[in-house]
Amino acid sequence: MSSLKTIAIKRLKERGVEIKDIAEIVYKLQYKYFDKLTIEDCIDSVSNVIAKREVINAVLTAIAIDEAVEKNLLDEPINSIIKNDDSLYGIDEILPLSIVNIYGSIAFTNFGYLDKVKYGIIGKLDKLGKEKKQCHTFLDDIVCAIASSAASRLAHKK
Ligand code: MG
Repeated sequence: MSSLKTIAIKRLKERGVEIKDIAEIVYKLQYKYFDKLTIEDCIDSVSNVIAKREVINAVLTAIAIDEAVEKNLLDEPINSIIKNDDSLYGIDEILPLSIVNIYGSIAFTNFGYLDKVKYGIIGKLDKLGKEKKQCHTFLDDIVCAIASSAASRLAHKK
């Protein structure tokens, strides 16, 4: 495993996101289209997505911004705008397009869908952010993008 991929997985874990959490979302998106899809297939697909350089860069950038905001390191007003996850901010949904764009239209439509339904870990991150316990303004969208890309990958391989 490349060392950058190892770092990305470690940083996700430090922020409360395990590969298996993302794989469970992928399973939920894809199980109905397969005769027998396993959680291992989903873990494998997520792991492949996280191996890509663009994805690693997006993960590390998102976490760096969220952590800087938690420490109030950015200038105002942008620190508060990101911390409050202002619905008109929107830049947190643009960064993950660097991931989704690699995996095509199935990834893109699932990305929009996950942002609405907030399955599993996505909902947990959103809740922690709303309670102001942590800032996950960027990370929740990155998780949506990795899950939807891993789902698209499975769909195309079928
Ligand atoms: Mg967000």
